[in-house]
Amino acid sequence: MTTLGDYPPAADAMREEPAVAEPAGVTIRQVSKRYGSGTLALHRIDLDCLPGEITVLVGPSGCGKTTLLRGIAGLEQPTGGSIHVAGRDVTTMEPQRRGVAMVFQNYALYPDKTAHDNIAFPLKMARVPKQERRGRVEAVARLLRLEALLERKPAELSGGQRQRVGIGRALVRGPRVLLMDEPLSNLDAQLRVDMRAELLALQRDLGTTMVYVTHDQVEALTLGSRVVVMNGGRIAQNGTPDQVYNRPENAFVASFLGGMNLIDGHVEEGRFRSGDNTVALPQRLRSFEGQRITLGIRPESLTRDDGGPDALTVTGRVALSEMLGHDHMVHIGGLSAPLRVRERYGPRAGESATVHARPDDIHIFLPDDEGKRADLS
Ligand code: ATP
Repeated sequence: MTTLGDYPPAADAMREEPAVAEPAGVTIRQVSKRYGSGTLALHRIDLDCLPGEITVLVGPSGCGKTTLLRGIAGLEQPTGGSIHVAGRDVTTMEPQRRGVAMVFQNYALYPDKTAHDNIAFPLKMARVPKQERRGRVEAVARLLRLEALLERKPAELSGGQRQRVGIGRALVRGPRVLLMDEPLSNLDAQLRVDMRAELLALQRDLGTTMVYVTHDQVEALTLGSRVVVMNGGRIAQNGTPDQVYNRPENAFVASFLGGMNLIDGHVEEGRFRSGDNTVALPQRLRSFEGQRITLGIRPESLTRDDGGPDALTVTGRVALSEMLGHDHMVHIGGLSAPLRVRERYGPRAGESATVHARPDDIHIFLPDDEGKRADLS
């Protein structure tokens, strides 16, 4: 959660900011943050947010994503390390001089000002002449399809429109980097989907560098040029959406993005022993003989169809079948953890079920090595 803090910036903010800014990169080196003598919220973070890309910071509550974003904004001072924007060291620079602007989860609009005056506010504080202010607000309003709403106050706008005004207020300064802290989380499900598409289109039009914080995995994968998965103040993986989803580097990322099944067990004589069950392992996984391993299989990779000659086959009792709408999430018991299978029709609890996974859809993680991915070339 973010609070308004000292935003919008104080007078003088605009002086050195160009009206249409070139996108800039953000370079973060060895950044740590300790609050008081207690929580280490960030631990030696290294990260490059490339110009014109959307870098999404995603992770569970408390993993440090907001602290990192606020560090880039200048609303939080790191305990160690450096932050550069467009090659300039901004680590100790005032927020308004960094060429960045932030959009907050709670919109942070002034309730007694119109949409126009909310968007214009940072320009007014920077003593931009009235005529120029109007022109710049109108340009931003056109971009965000807010022209017809400029005279309304926040209470007369929908959640999505309010969020667009919040984005407008950040954009009007011509920032080189746009920082977004869960900007869609106050919106209902359908509006979130619409606004997500709008944001993506807007970013493509503007080419602005964005650093975007969310705890929503779908938002992370759909919006991110790069997805940075955080856990406990560290980066668990930094990669393209395809890399983090299809080749998770550790069990945490596998489970956090897409809820991969993680089944602990032991390999003995080519078979995988887990819970009350023992199943034959595909040939390519047999090199782990004598080791404890974690098998990772996505619920959608398990099928009732024959998985081919070298498939992994599990038979167990249905413990639970959850209706998800189009699909069901079927929980099959017998292994060290319920095996979740995503399928069209939900069987009854207590029925016997047999499912298969193709060898290529099985990931291996090493529990003795902090859940690191094992490479199976
Ligand atoms: P959320 O999604 O819940 O906002 P987050 O990933 O953004 O979580 P942060 O807000 O960055 O997490 O917090 C990281 C850690 O730092 C947490 O343990 C949090 O309790 C702690 N923390 C954050 N702000 C402060 C503060 N002002 N004083 C002390 N501890 C703080």
